[in-house]
Parts: sequence; C-alpha cells; structure tokens
Amino acid sequence: MIREYDALIVGAGGSGLYAALEASDAARAGGGKRPLRTAVLSKLHPMRSHTGAAQGGIGAALGNVEEDRPEWHAFDTVKGGDYLVDQRAAVLLAEDAVRAVYDLENRGLAFSRTPDGKIDQRRFGGHTRNFGEGPVRRSCYAADRTGHQILQTLYQQCIKNGVEFFDEFYVMDVLLSGRRCCGVVAIELATGELHTFRAKAVLFATGGFGRMFRVTSNAYANTGDGPAVLARRGVPLQDMEFYQFHPTGIRGLGILITEAVRGEGGILRNRRGERFMERFAPTLLDLAPRDMISRAILSEIKSGNGVRGDGAIDDWVLLDATHLGKDVLEKKLPDITGFSRTYLGIDPVEAPIPVQPTAHYAMGGIPTDVDGRVIADAAGDVYEGLYAAGECACVSVHGANRLGTNSLVDLVVFGRRAGRSMAAYAQEAPFAVPPDDPDGPARAEIARLKDGSTGRPANVVRSRMETVMMEKVGIFRNERDLAEAERTVAELRGSWREVRVRDSSRRFNTDLLEVLELRNLLDLAYVTAAAARQRQESRGAHARDDHPQRDDTRWLRHSLAWLKGDGTVTDSRPVDVSTWAPRPRAY
Ligand SMILES: Cc1cc2nc3c(=O)[nH]c(=O)nc-3n(C[C@H](O)[C@H](O)[C@H](O)COP(=O)(O)OP(=O)(O)OC[C@H]3O[C@@H](n4cnc5c(N)ncnc54)[C@H](O)[C@@H]3O)c2cc1C
Repeated sequence: MIREYDALIVGAGGSGLYAALEASDAARAGGGKRPLRTAVLSKLHPMRSHTGAAQGGIGAALGNVEEDRPEWHAFDTVKGGDYLVDQRAAVLLAEDAVRAVYDLENRGLAFSRTPDGKIDQRRFGGHTRNFGEGPVRRSCYAADRTGHQILQTLYQQCIKNGVEFFDEFYVMDVLLSGRRCCGVVAIELATGELHTFRAKAVLFATGGFGRMFRVTSNAYANTGDGPAVLARRGVPLQDMEFYQFHPTGIRGLGILITEAVRGEGGILRNRRGERFMERFAPTLLDLAPRDMISRAILSEIKSGNGVRGDGAIDDWVLLDATHLGKDVLEKKLPDITGFSRTYLGIDPVEAPIPVQPTAHYAMGGIPTDVDGRVIADAAGDVYEGLYAAGECACVSVHGANRLGTNSLVDLVVFGRRAGRSMAAYAQEAPFAVPPDDPDGPARAEIARLKDGSTGRPANVVRSRMETVMMEKVGIFRNERDLAEAERTVAELRGSWREVRVRDSSRRFNTDLLEVLELRNLLDLAYVTAAAARQRQESRGAHARDDHPQRDDTRWLRHSLAWLKGDGTVTDSRPVDVSTWAPRPRAY
C-alpha cells in the first residue's frame, strides 16, 4: 500500500515529536498557506521511545537559582566537546534552550520547583559559571524523570495537532532519487506487511546505537537504524569515532545512574575510600565532563584501585550518596534510588552504589546543517527533502564529547528547527517520483532471510560484535586494537549474510526484526572502528594511547565516512571555530 504525506517523521522520541509538532503547525511553521499532512512512524509505541529514560535534566541558562548566561552555556558546550563543536550551532543551542524550556513548561511539562515556584535547577558535569570558574546550577529537571515528562508533553501536543501515528512500523529503507528524498519503506510489525510512504520531506530521528557495545545504558531498540539505512544508500556519516562512555552505569548491567547524583553532591571513591577525582580534575572534581571521569575511573581500576583491586577491565568503583540523606534521594532521585534497591539490593541511603563506565551516547551520526537538512558531501551540499535530528544526527553541537543535559536541549532546539524547515519546504515542493518497485529491495531481503535454509545464529554474531567493540573500541584505544576490531567487524558483516531467520511467521516476527537491527549495528560498528583508527590524536571521548595529544593542526576537522561495499571511504569537513579559539582543556 502506498501512502502520501507532506512531512514524514521516522522516530517518536523527543526530537521526532518536536519536529512533528512544528511541521503539523503549518500556520506558524510554513506561512500558513495550507495545513500539512504530517505522520510519525515508530518501531515502538511513542511513549516507549528512549527519550523516556532520560533522567537528570535539560540544560538552559535560566539563572533561576544563581546567575547564569547562555554565553557561558555555549562556551562550556564548546570546551566540553574539545573544540570539535561547530560554534555558531552551540550558541544557537544555548540561546534557544531558554525559550525551549519555557515552551515545554507552557505546554504542560511538570518541572520540579524552587520554594518560590520557579523551575528548579541543579549542577551537571562540565557546566560552569563565568567560563569555567566553578559549577553552576543549569539543569532543569522533573525529579529524575525529565525525559519521560518531555515525551508525555510532546506526544499529547502532537495528538492535539492531528499528527497521524503509525506505531510499530519498522522503517527498513529510504527512497532516494539522486539527492532528492521521496519517502521510506516500512514493515508493519503486527502483520508483516510492507508499506511504501511517499513524502515531500522525511526526517530521521531514530535515536542512538549503544547496543553495539556489551555494557550500555541504551535500550534494546537503540540499534542505529536511521544512520545505517541512510549510509547503505550513500549518505555519509560524521564524527563516528566519538562515542561517549558515561562514568556511572550500574556495575555489570550498564543501567544508568544519572550524573544528577553527583550534581546533588554524590562522590566517586576508590577501594581506599579516596575521592580520586581530586587528582584528575581539581576544580570540578566529580562534576568534570564524562570523558575525563570515565578515563579516571578506568585508570584507577587499571592501577589496582578498583573495588576488587585486580586491575581487570570489569572491576568497579563506588558512587557514594549516603551523605545526601533519604529525603534528597527519595524526592529528587527516586528512580535511581529504586534502581539501586531493585537491581543491586543496595539502599543508596545506607551504602555506596557500585558503578563502572557504560556505553551511552553517539556524538557522531547523520551530518546536518542547523535546520536539520542532511549534508551530502565535504563541500556541505545538502539533500533535498531529507532531514535528521536528535541523537542519530550530528549538527554538530557535541563535538568530541557531549555534556550532560545537552542532548535533551539538542532534541528540542534542533528537532523544532528541522520541523519548521520541513514544513516550509513541503509547502512549496511537489512530490518527487520514487524509484520503480520501491519496496522491491526490502521484499527481496526479507525473502532471502526467510528462505528456510539453516544459517548462522544471529546471537553469536551479535555477541562477538559487542565484545570486540567493548574491548577494542572502548574508552582507551590504540592502532593494534582498532585494526583488530575493524577486521573482526568486517568478518562479522560477512557472517551476517549467512544468518537466517528461524521464525517464518508474519505477525510480530521479532526474530526478523532483530536480524535486521543487527545488520544496522554491524554497519555502524564498522564505520566507528574505521573512523577511530583513522583519527590519530586524542580528543574528547576518543583517547588513543598511541597518540595521546590533541592535534589541532592535523585533526581539527569533522570526519566523514561513506560505506562502500565491504569498505569505507573517508573525507573531512572544517569545524566552525569562529568565536572561541581552541585552548588546552583543563578543569
Ligand atoms: C538512561 C539514559 C539517561 C539519559 N539522561 C539524559 C538526561 O538527563 N539529559 C540529556 O540531555 N540526555 C540524556 N540522555 C540522552 C538522551 O535521552 C537521548 O540522547 C535522547 O533522548 C535521544 O532522543 P531521540 O529523539 O534522538 O531518540 P529516541 O528517544 O531514542 O527515539 C528514537 C525513536 O526512533 C524510533 N525508531 C528507531 N528505529 C526505527 C525504525 N527503524 N523504524 C521506525 N522507528 C524507529 C523509535 O521507535 C523511537 O521512537 C540519556 C540517555 C540514557 C540512555
């Protein structure tokens, strides 16, 4: 069946929903010539999107609790990203964050409050007053359920605006005619049927891909479908070597313990009870940026100061929140208090939480301009009618390392801008003609995977990918490990072609879904390893033992990588450093 929409959004997380809201509101977004038909496709029910897991808050220089300025926020974002951030985009992010937070409040988001009724704010890593003097209270929050509140607010507003939702539709392919997007092809999970959606403007907002690593804070659905589908159709990916490990995942499980615990005063300690961040970041201590704290934890572990003390990579340290008291923990951090009690049997009121770094956030992804238009080449030319926003996109406001609370800002600031720009485009543009037999390649792929032969088990391929990415493309990297990872993932991509789906049914065939998702993860893991190997310097989350210094002369560039058959082709783009000249990054 073929359906037609003006604006089509793939993904119902914070970025997709904000874009849908704006695109559907044609009066504001597109000059009000006529209402736009807007639809959202999502492989999950919108309220199960991963944005719902965001705990700690959304950064905006409201200055409700102490003096703060958007300029300081922009500077922290640039410095936090180790100067690989595009600076005009960072200024836009920080300035628009203030409007965005009040907009969310006006639309119904129930933020936590100060005693005098203002939106309350707390500290978060890397966010400082007056260009680095000390921590500032910038994170606006709704207890530790901020993302859930954002999703709920935006979903309700989309329903009000008449946005059409196709829940549990899995997008498998994008329809491109040269550099013009014409639509997508999706499987309806409930029936197994393939559907073609034609659209004037298509936005990808499919979230992150932490599932390529063994220990991760990401949900099972975070498999990078958008970037992988586009990459297989010739779209480049940008800065894929920069993958963030969050310092505090629950030991062994990876479930996130939000930075808000340290924002409220929690302290990291080693097996001797020492506050080891005093040695690594004397000014910001436990509120230094995530890349630095993750490296500090791993260095402590490697030198035998982890709790077990054997120096093995799976050792852990302790997050001590006992001095915060029951009231703060249960009122301001109820979810993580519950996680610790449920998953570890440890009450954080009485004992420290065992933590270790967990794969968390993709700084890289689909390159876009500040209006969400997808960039096609090193010259910055864009695709027509093709957009991306949220974690799957790379604007780039996070550079080499994202600051906590800046993803939620990214979703609402750039999701909104992308929605507006889609609407303006769709008001004028005609429908493009899709290729002949638009769902043919997807149909053929499914038929091949379900041909009844006995192939390799997908779980074996998946497990090898997760292990090699964790051990060789993790917090510390070097040429030998990266070359091995690249080779292994290349082999695994070959093995995937021998995988077959064992469940032949059509309805809710999760076996098929997982095999398709695995292919996406493998393609992105491959680009990540290749891009990491290529970048011979250390910057932000990309720390190379064999190239320990940042090298602005050679590497102050965004990397671009194209998937080409069994290999990758690379190029680079300039970084916008128009406001702050790169300086050494100390905290
Ligand atoms: C545990 C945790 C806590 C966090 N806390 C914070 C925080 O406090 N502050 C902060 O700023 N950031 C935080 N982050 C990061 C932030 O939450 C995410 O980066 C952000 O929510 C991603 O939003 P998104 O809109 O890009 O995608 P998501 O919310 O992940 O949504 C992706 C959407 O795409 C859909 N989709 C995916 N693939 C397909 C497909 N093939 N076909 C159809 N639909 C598809 C999914 O169904 C889903 O609707 C946290 C992250 C985690 C993991």
